[in-house]
Amino acid sequence: MADYFKPRGTADILPDAALQWQYVEEMVQKVFATYHYREIRTPIFEHTEVFERGVGDTTDIVQKEMYTFLDRGDRSITLRPEGTAGVVRAFVEQKLYGGPLPAKLYYFGPMFRYETPQAGRTRQFHQYGVEVIGSDDPRVDAEVIELADHFLRAVGVTSTTLELNSVGCPVCRVAHKDALVAHLLPIKDELCEDCQSRIVRNPLRILDCKIDAHHPVVESSPMITDHLCDDCAAHFAAVRNYLDLLEVPYVVNKKLVRGLDYYTKTAFEFVEGSIGAQSTILAGGRYNGLVKSLGGPDVPGIGFAGGIERLLLALAANGVSHEVPDEVEVYVMALSNEAHAMSVNILRDLRVVGVVADADYTGRGLKAQMKTADRLNAKVAVLIGEDEVKSGQLAVRDLSTREQILVAQGDTVAKILNILQS
Ligand code: ATP
Ligand code: MG
Repeated sequence: MADYFKPRGTADILPDAALQWQYVEEMVQKVFATYHYREIRTPIFEHTEVFERGVGDTTDIVQKEMYTFLDRGDRSITLRPEGTAGVVRAFVEQKLYGGPLPAKLYYFGPMFRYETPQAGRTRQFHQYGVEVIGSDDPRVDAEVIELADHFLRAVGVTSTTLELNSVGCPVCRVAHKDALVAHLLPIKDELCEDCQSRIVRNPLRILDCKIDAHHPVVESSPMITDHLCDDCAAHFAAVRNYLDLLEVPYVVNKKLVRGLDYYTKTAFEFVEGSIGAQSTILAGGRYNGLVKSLGGPDVPGIGFAGGIERLLLALAANGVSHEVPDEVEVYVMALSNEAHAMSVNILRDLRVVGVVADADYTGRGLKAQMKTADRLNAKVAVLIGEDEVKSGQLAVRDLSTREQILVAQGDTVAKILNILQS
């Protein structure tokens, strides 16, 4: 019985499962690089204001989900709940706007939100995501969405639905907000506590509320998509055109409003029906006001973030597994103390040339060591007993043919490579 337990909402990723994670991470690097996105790594904690400002202080994230604490210098620090605010902070602080635009960036790493843990929802979770900063061209929206679609298919998730909407800009929102508030005010008392305060602060978010979104009056609300200004309407039409051209299937969901305040124009989500209630595996959109609101120049941006845990659930639901068995190529068996000196050299020499090699470190006998070599599916065993120590020669056994030969210590690596390559 253990005395210590991991905090609620966290997970230990054990070596077998870690192989799946490595696979996803490698695919992110590989696929995103072909679109010429380059990795950015920002701190896992930031000054709290970065998220208050960058995510928006009316959002669930800022209001109730952040891990915020005072550090020993009495500064308010927050573990990052998402990636965009930190990337944009870095874009501004490091003056990336002075370089070639748009900056096409991606990230991968842990995020932290104080939420009620359930399947597909944890307190430490992991996201991969992209940010493209410095272009309002609808081709960029289409590229980002097509990249997400391509990536999900490439890793093996083939059953997602892409939902698309436009949430307009501050210009269209003024007109829409009045219509929305007028529509919702009569039923204000029937809404949840959060939504009652959202009516004044951020009524658009009521359409996205997990409790009230299905209230019949909320469902029949005037939709932002029907109130787009000319610029936003043209942008939305162009994005849909490019997606059609790229043969990326989507459905327009006028109720899709992203939870974060800084989103403008394009909003999208990839939904995977087979993984339960937490079915959004990737979500994103345009955020033309964000860079400026974080103190940078007035440049537009767009991005998405996908959850790795939910992606892995989707992979499992799609029957995709990338576990590789726990194997070595060579198992070195040293059967006496004197033999250990020879074995550490052989192990080092094999590893230097890239051969996966291991040995017993618990003093077990020959039979037990043979069993381990077998379990690890070793192709070659090196045996070092008393005779071998005396003669300076090693017994090299090809475990598939059971053929065994004596080899001078200096020739061992070459001989083993021969067997491995045969
Ligand atoms: P949700 O509606 O599920 O709370 P969200 O709008 O808070 O999602 P985003 O901030 O858009 O989510 O994050 C993008 C993606 O990150 C989500 O689609 C999901 O795949 C993943 N994600 C978000 N929060 C969590 C969490 N607590 N645990 C695991 N994955 C998460
Ligand atoms: Mg959430």
